[in-house]
Amino acid sequence: MIPFLDLRAAYLELKPRIDAAVARVLDSGWYILGPEVEAFEAEWAAYCEAAHAVGVANGLDALTLALRALDIGPGDEVIVPSNTYIATWLAVSGVGATPVPVEPDPATHNIDPTRIEAAVTSRTRALLPVHLYGQPADLDPILDIARRHNLRVVEDAAQAHGARYKGKRIGAHGDIVCWSFYPGKNLGALGDAGAITTNDAALAERVALLRNYGSRQKYVNEEPGVNSRLDPLQAAVLRVKLDVLDAWTGRRRAVAAAYAGGLADAGLILPHVPDWAEPVWHLYVVRSPARDALQARLSEAGVGTLIHYPIPPHCQAAYAEMGLAPEALPLARRLAGEVLSLPIGPHLEKRATDMVIQCFYKDCDGE
Ligand SMILES: *Cc1c(COP(=O)(O)O)cnc(C)c1O
Repeated sequence: MIPFLDLRAAYLELKPRIDAAVARVLDSGWYILGPEVEAFEAEWAAYCEAAHAVGVANGLDALTLALRALDIGPGDEVIVPSNTYIATWLAVSGVGATPVPVEPDPATHNIDPTRIEAAVTSRTRALLPVHLYGQPADLDPILDIARRHNLRVVEDAAQAHGARYKGKRIGAHGDIVCWSFYPGKNLGALGDAGAITTNDAALAERVALLRNYGSRQKYVNEEPGVNSRLDPLQAAVLRVKLDVLDAWTGRRRAVAAAYAGGLADAGLILPHVPDWAEPVWHLYVVRSPARDALQARLSEAGVGTLIHYPIPPHCQAAYAEMGLAPEALPLARRLAGEVLSLPIGPHLEKRATDMVIQCFYKDCDGE
């Protein structure tokens, strides 16, 4: 059996260090915010080549508080990819604004910058690109459109820990960058966790305020905030895992390179990497019109695959009220029917990678 992702193996490799970090927090007697969270925030900001990081409870809250910090709310529009995890849209609708979807470049699956300007209206306040599958979106044209139309740029970097765009780490190209440390992400906690990074001190301070009841000083509330604090236990775990992030990204790159070579003649559309992109391979997504049959064959051979994502946000019951027909966003809908995510992760061995590749060339019935 080849699992899609082995989270237990990730823990076991680091077990002595993680256990010691958890014990350190338990022993400290300090369980909300405090030195462990501050230390992780400083280390994460430095890693992301950003001036500030603020830890929050999860990736959806990072997006939501980023939008609130920019005073985006009812009556405002935010441009989002049609092809993304639903959290990107939920953050926008959650603050009372309207998500305005723009279709992807089918080569990269990321938002197509050439389609953005047609979606800008007098109500547009921000652009919200996603670095999907760990591949940076094409940020320069996005930042240029934002400058010309006086819009803010919020990045959903929940899948892009350590990725680089034109040599610079994802972390502060736009006004504010949102991170998830959900266990399955490239930098994953042992529970929910998230953060924002930014070069804007005022925005960082606003998110820090909002995540903690709108309070800087205990029992003094400057605005109606929420409770969305990064747990110090998770911060301590993340500090251990940040130490190995680049090494583990290297292992993901080796798997991706093996797939790229081994699957070149398998009749699939393989991921396209533009020359300005250094992806971190959160997912390795292939495309085929025969996706369902392929997935069934791999499953019979004991290979775990997933679909990211089977139903685009505009086709979800959650967005039925928007009244968008499935065909309104044909590219998002088409990708949902053709994409297949192959096993990838820092603990997928060479032998397993080769077995996955073999499944695309013959009946892999274990013979
Ligand atoms: C995981 C993810 C999120 C949400 O993160 P949570 O920590 O689960 O709230 C948002 N956007 C994208 C693209 C993601 O992959």
